[in-house]
Amino acid sequence: MSKRILAYRRLNDHQLDQLRSQFHVDYFDKLESPDDPAFREALSQAHGLIGAGVTMTPELLDAAPNLEAIASISVGVDNYSVDELTTRGILLCNTPDVLTETTADTGFSLIMASARRVVELADYVRRGDWKSSIGPEQFGSDVHGKTLGMVGFGRIGQAIARRGALGFGMKILYAKASPKPDLEAELGARRCELDELLQQSDFVCAIVPLTPETRQLIGAREFELMKESAIFINISRGQVVDEQAMIQALESGQIRGAGLDVFEQEPLQSDSPLPRMPNVVALPHIGSATHETRTAMAQRAVDNMMLALDGKRPLSPVNEEAWGDKLN
Ligand code: NAP
Repeated sequence: MSKRILAYRRLNDHQLDQLRSQFHVDYFDKLESPDDPAFREALSQAHGLIGAGVTMTPELLDAAPNLEAIASISVGVDNYSVDELTTRGILLCNTPDVLTETTADTGFSLIMASARRVVELADYVRRGDWKSSIGPEQFGSDVHGKTLGMVGFGRIGQAIARRGALGFGMKILYAKASPKPDLEAELGARRCELDELLQQSDFVCAIVPLTPETRQLIGAREFELMKESAIFINISRGQVVDEQAMIQALESGQIRGAGLDVFEQEPLQSDSPLPRMPNVVALPHIGSATHETRTAMAQRAVDNMMLALDGKRPLSPVNEEAWGDKLN
């Protein structure tokens, strides 16, 4: 009897055909809630899960007694307790690399849009308020030549820094990352303590994974250290920031603006002031959301799952140890 895969994010026909050639596939192209009875029924039989956006609680894992592997369509794995999966012998795979450049494009577009007030001023034109030449009250600030502080300097952080250093002549600082001598040589980047980065940067960009150590890494104290002219960019996870402290810093003028792709609660709640603040550019978590990249991420997840359930090493395992020497 073939193994069963539960897929709960959109896959294209080719990807579904690939899976169906080897497995029985239960497919939800849009899952409203993990409490959906049909999802629960499929979960109870699944050997493999392919998807994203569902927090895999112990309760959900208990409801999946046959589960062997999860292929997440994401690079971030904060929806899973990796230790818990490992203890249960469940292999987790993710999709690094294929989304790096696209997510860096999103990060850099937030830098540009925030500094040059692109959304605010496009709205001004759309409202018909452009009646005469704009004045200093509508001016933005330069991006080129400024200091870009990267909080986290992994794949995506480096790709953003490359855009800044090589495309815009920006000076790069980085913190909360191990030393990267090659990048220092390539981009003239300098590693420093987080406090120094916060004090010196014109743009502070958070791009660390969400872990117990990075939860609320940027809070009231950190906003106080930033320049009044600083723009804060978050494309990592909302919980990396104390959102109330950020709102206060933005409202009080302690920092100049923010470009945000991620929030404490997603989708943003209607009572959040963030979308209405003129000095905030808020996006609906679109870091990797291009046709090309979402297709590549789904393909990576399908490839990971097919390899894993065939006993071969997947392309991007997160907790290989979960399967001991089962992989070859
Ligand atoms: P990565 O290559 O693993 O880089 C992570 C960076 O954070 C590294 O520089 C790492 O330090 C540093 N870091 C600091 N504290 C850490 C800790 N406690 N644990 C692990 N690393 C820590 O990851 P990436 O591919 O750049 O992705 C980063 C995060 O971006 C993802 O985890 C995800 O949450 C988020 N993301 C968001 C979107 C979106 O749609 N907005 C899209 C993709 C990814 P070292 O250099 O010393 O390893």
